[in-house]
Amino acid sequence: MGVRKHLQRVHLKGWQRLSFPKWPIDTTVDILLEKLLALSIRSAQMKSIPFIWFWPEGANACSIMTHDVETEKGVAFSSSLMAIDREFGIPASFQIVPEERYHVSQEYLDSIRQRGFEVNIQDLNHDGHLFKDHKIFEKRVARINEYATQFNAAGFRSAVLYRNQAWYDLLEFAYDMSVPNVAHLDPQRGGCCTVMPYFVGKILELPVTMTQDYSLFYILKDYSLALWKQQVEVILQKHGLINVIVHPDYLDGNRATKVYKELLSFLAELRRNQNVWVTLPGEVNRWWRERNKMELVCQNGCWQVEGPGSERARVAFASLEGDRLTYTIQQRSETDNSGGRGTYPKRQECYPRNEI
Ligand SMILES: [Zn+2]
Repeated sequence: MGVRKHLQRVHLKGWQRLSFPKWPIDTTVDILLEKLLALSIRSAQMKSIPFIWFWPEGANACSIMTHDVETEKGVAFSSSLMAIDREFGIPASFQIVPEERYHVSQEYLDSIRQRGFEVNIQDLNHDGHLFKDHKIFEKRVARINEYATQFNAAGFRSAVLYRNQAWYDLLEFAYDMSVPNVAHLDPQRGGCCTVMPYFVGKILELPVTMTQDYSLFYILKDYSLALWKQQVEVILQKHGLINVIVHPDYLDGNRATKVYKELLSFLAELRRNQNVWVTLPGEVNRWWRERNKMELVCQNGCWQVEGPGSERARVAFASLEGDRLTYTIQQRSETDNSGGRGTYPKRQECYPRNEI
């Protein structure tokens, strides 16, 4: 770890001067999509555009907690970490390295699942060479896919957030969580500049939108929630995904654990007061795929959502207040007798005309 720290400091020199992607969180793609939506509203001369709201039950945003298990120490601490998470009612996924790093027993995997947590695959052996060249990748990905079946895992994360999304077609996973939003503090720079899930071919990408615990504690030497809160504020504005990585290896009854508990308490507060959906990555994947297949249909002057899972969906309207895009979520009728198909009580024209 000492060597890693040293190398990272040398590599990181001058990161504060990087202007793109924007630190500590970049929403360039989200802003671009908002602009397109605003242009569509204007050019079609409509008052508003209906769409299927981003999250189930009209949630304001979404949050997932992910634990990357790096060493034997992390394996040993997993049980205590699950107890801490449960204390705050925060579900989490564990990303397990299948080879070389530590022994992965069936009992360990079962102990995670039995307590309502999720198992995903982390890399193959965590040596940082997974994406070095395509031949190596081809060989390793075959084994990684086998482990996915063996561990019954649907999600993937690479070591140290190395990535090459052009090769993802070989990964047999439903979702990936290897792409940071802004990677100034990671060895592979760049970032996806969105706080929303998105598809890369068949794989759903759940971007890592929060600074990792390692970077916060050991590079920035910051033992407070300040940076995380700043990032959450931007994510909430965009109704996006809070995606945190916290390693069980670095939490050992020290300052880091105290800050981590404060983060859990903060996330529980967001769930309570800000209508944030706190869930597992696998649940986000399920919802996002269902939503992707749902259809917005107009029936008898009412917009409704159809398709599997639509009982959790809400119709929303995007409209313009001056140049600002605003959203309104249509509330469900309390006496909804549509049998869960999701009709809405308020009759209105399906294509509202511009009143200007
Ligand atoms: Zn790792």
